[in-house]
Amino acid sequence: MTEKISIVLPVFNEEAGIKTTIDTLETYVDKQKEDYELVFVDDGSKDKSVEIIKSELENHDNIKIVEFSRNFGHQLAITAGLQYTSGDAVVVMDADLQDPPEVIPRMIEKWHEGYDIVYGKRKQRDGETVFKKLTAAMFYRTFKSLATIDMPLDTGDFRLMNRKAVNQMQRLREQDPFVRGQVTWIGFKQTSVEYHRHERIAGETKYPLSKMIKLALDGITSFSMKPLQLANVFAGLPLVGGLIYLIYLIATGGFTAATVGITLMLFSVGFVFLSLGIFGGYLGRVLDQVNDRPRFIVRDTVGFEKRAKSIHH
Ligand code: UDP
Ligand code: MG
Repeated sequence: MTEKISIVLPVFNEEAGIKTTIDTLETYVDKQKEDYELVFVDDGSKDKSVEIIKSELENHDNIKIVEFSRNFGHQLAITAGLQYTSGDAVVVMDADLQDPPEVIPRMIEKWHEGYDIVYGKRKQRDGETVFKKLTAAMFYRTFKSLATIDMPLDTGDFRLMNRKAVNQMQRLREQDPFVRGQVTWIGFKQTSVEYHRHERIAGETKYPLSKMIKLALDGITSFSMKPLQLANVFAGLPLVGGLIYLIYLIATGGFTAATVGITLMLFSVGFVFLSLGIFGGYLGRVLDQVNDRPRFIVRDTVGFEKRAKSIHH
């Protein structure tokens, strides 16, 4: 049977280039041996993006559109897109052709070799500001030192996932998903292909600094509890300082209103931070619970199919 590949494309105000994207993808698809569907998720575009995609429905029967009621953000557009796919494998890519379709056959090849997830690793990024590249590089490295998952450096959302992985992605119910972190979190056999990330074909980036910051904070708060624990470190300084000072006062007999005041202040500041740290520790656990992720995921079971199906984690 012919394999089917779904391509998910989140779209936000891409009227300037969306026609070129469709033409390029359809030309690419025609030359492939697999069947393809293109699932466009319109993330509340205020321009003519949807009309342009709709006008292409007449010429191509493999185009699908999911329309959001407003702008929910790139990450949720991807999340929704996955749910509307029916392919044996799903590829997520930008609608601005920054992620070149020529990379897809290399991803498929890795998938055929037995990998469940193949992510694109950017070895070069064109047309992006030094600021964007620098902050992105810093973010990935900070994230790596904080997070409980081992997310590969310098990868975006351009990747192929097989049906098994896509099904598991749908079990994650985070309100503000950080998709590339989730993909790492679900595990499976993952590998990468390197590619050269092009300049966007038209229009401006739809990721202003405010959205980049939100993405970074969503990533950190959903996959690391370390910042919450920092309060404990802050608490240590005034506590130890206060103690040393107290010993010094006892040894030298230097008790005055001022020195006692300083000691009390150091201790109280320390305890405020300490209690914040403890509070944070509990809040972190609550956050984890509210996120409601499964505790573990079984990739496959052999020999006891029927019973295994009724096991819930
Ligand atoms: N996008 C979206 N919702 C948003 C912002 C962006 O669906 O709120 C889409 C956008 O149309 C593009 C993809 O997500 O297809 C990635 O955005 P963009 O190319 O602007 O980001 P960059 O490549 O500059 O990081
Ligand atoms: Mg882009």
